[in-house]
Amino acid sequence: MGDPRGFLKVKQAHGFYRPACERVKDHEPVSVLRAEAQSQEQSSRCMDCGTPFCHSGCPLGNLIPEWNDLVFHGHWEKALTLLSATNNLPEVTGRVCPALCEYSCVLGINDDAVTVRENELGIIEHGFKKALVVARTPKQRTGRKIAVIGSGPAGLACADQLNRAGHSITVFERDDRPGGLLRYGIPDFKLEKRILDRRLGIWKKEGIEFRTGVEVGKTISANALLKTFDAVCLAGGSRQPRDLAIPGRDLQGIYFAMEYLSQANRRVAGEKIAAGGSIDAKDKNVVVIGGGDTGSDCLGTALRQGAACVVQIEVLPKPPVARTPAMPWPRYPLLLKTTTSHEEGGVREWAIRIKEFKGTSGRLEKIICSRLDYSRKDERVSAPPELPGSDFEVKADLAFICAGFLHPRHEGLLTDLGVVFDQRGNVKTGENFMTCVEKVFSAGDMRRGQSLVVWAIAEGRRCAHHIDAYLMGESSLPEV
Ligand SMILES: Cc1cc2nc3c(=O)[nH]c(=O)nc-3n(C[C@H](O)[C@H](O)[C@H](O)COP(=O)(O)OP(=O)(O)OC[C@H]3O[C@@H](n4cnc5c(N)ncnc54)[C@H](O)[C@@H]3O)c2cc1C
Ligand code: SF4
Repeated sequence: MGDPRGFLKVKQAHGFYRPACERVKDHEPVSVLRAEAQSQEQSSRCMDCGTPFCHSGCPLGNLIPEWNDLVFHGHWEKALTLLSATNNLPEVTGRVCPALCEYSCVLGINDDAVTVRENELGIIEHGFKKALVVARTPKQRTGRKIAVIGSGPAGLACADQLNRAGHSITVFERDDRPGGLLRYGIPDFKLEKRILDRRLGIWKKEGIEFRTGVEVGKTISANALLKTFDAVCLAGGSRQPRDLAIPGRDLQGIYFAMEYLSQANRRVAGEKIAAGGSIDAKDKNVVVIGGGDTGSDCLGTALRQGAACVVQIEVLPKPPVARTPAMPWPRYPLLLKTTTSHEEGGVREWAIRIKEFKGTSGRLEKIICSRLDYSRKDERVSAPPELPGSDFEVKADLAFICAGFLHPRHEGLLTDLGVVFDQRGNVKTGENFMTCVEKVFSAGDMRRGQSLVVWAIAEGRRCAHHIDAYLMGESSLPEV
C-alpha cells in the first residue's frame, strides 16, 4: 500500500471535463487527461485490501492494488508492465469502461471509490508519452495460421494474444477500417479514433495482417476459410437490432441507433456521405428511444450536429441514485447514470410507452406516447398499466431506436459454417470457446451477447488461450 493513511487524507477527485457549452460545439474528447501528480495522489487512496474485490470486479482481473501502489511511488514503467499483462487496450477501457471495479471497491462502502479507471488511463498514457509502448515482434513463429473474423475489441485482443504466442494472424473486417464498435459505434467525443489508430499501428508493425473491406461468408467463403487456416476465431459482434413493432414504423425519419451513429462517426472522420442517405440532426426535433448508453451517444451526437430539441425516452422507471437493499455492495448496481452528453442538453423522460409514429406524406412528424404506472405493476404481467388519460405527443423529425441488439446475424457466415446458437441466438461454444465446428472458436458479443468493451477484451484473451492450447497442446497465454 502506497500510503496507509491515504484514504483518510485524500478525497476522491476526478479529472476535468471541458465545459459543456464549449465541447458540444465540436467532436473532440469531452475529458481532459488528468495530471500525473493527481493520479499519484488518487492512487494513495487505495487501501490494498486483503481481498481486493475490485480485482474480481474487473472482467480482466486487472491487478489494481498493485499498480495503484506503483503509481503512488512513481514507478510508472513497472505499473505499465503489470497493466499490459492483463489488458490489451487500456487506453480504450481507461476512456470508456463503466469501471465495474469501482463499484466493488471496498472504500466505496462508506466513502467514494478509488478512481481506478482514471489511474489506468494515467498509466497507459504515461507509457505512450515516454515511448514505452512500442512494437515487439515475436522472436519465433509457429507456422500456424489463424483467421480472426471481426476487428472489434474481442477480435483485436484475441489477435494480439495469439500473435504474441508466435502464430500468424489475419484479421478480416467487413468495414473499410478496423475497430468494430470502437470506431463506428462509440462517438469521437468519448473515444477519439487516433487512440485506436495508434494501437493498430503497433499491431501492424508486430506482424498482424488486417484485411479490411472483406466480408467473410461473402467475399471469402466459409469453406475457403477452413481450408486456409489452422483455426478461426469468430468475433463478429452482435448487431441484429431490436425493433419496435408500432404503427407508423415505416415512416421516413426513423432509424436504428447504429445507422445514425456509424454515419455520424464516418462524417467526423471526414468521409463523404451520399446526399440521399444523409441522417443529419441539424435544426431537427429528435427523439431518442432508449435510455441506455447507446441512447446517450445518440443524444450527444445530435446535440453536436445542432439539433433543435432532443428528447430521450425510456420505458423503465427512473433508477435510484444510490444503492438500495436489492443492490448491495459489491454487486454492480443499476443506478441513474448521468453521462457527459446528458449534462450538455436534452430532456429525459422515464416510464414512457411509445404507441404510434405519426406523419404526413410518409415522413415522421410526431410520436404518440403514454405514461406508465409502475406502482400498479402486476408482477405476473410483463408490462405495467398506463396512467389513465396520460397520452401526449412529442414533435419528431427524427427518431433513433436504441432498444439494444438481439444477437449476431445468422444468415451467411454463421449458417454456412453450421455453428449452433444458444437460447438467445448467440454463437454457442463449449468452455474452451470452441463452437460445434472443429477448429472454429468464438468470442465477444457474438458469443456473449451485447456487452461491454472490457468483457469483449476478456473474451478475446480467453479464446486466444484456448486456440493456442488447441494448436500447440498447451498454452502459456493467460486464461484471462
Ligand atoms: C453505440 C454504442 C456505444 C457503446 N459504448 C460503450 C462504452 O462506452 N463502453 C463500453 O464498455 N461498451 C460500449 N459499447 C459496447 C461495446 O462497444 C461492445 O460490447 C464491444 O465493441 C463488442 O466487441 P466485439 O469485438 O465483440 O464486437 P464489435 O465491436 O461489434 O466488432 C465486431 C466486428 O466484426 C465485423 N464483422 C462481423 N461479421 C463479419 C464478417 N462476416 N466478416 C468480416 N467482419 C465481420 C463487424 O464489422 C465489426 O467490425 C457500446 C456499444 C454501442 C453500440
Ligand atoms: S478495465 Fe474497467 S473494470 Fe477493469 S480496472 Fe479498468 S476501469 Fe476497472
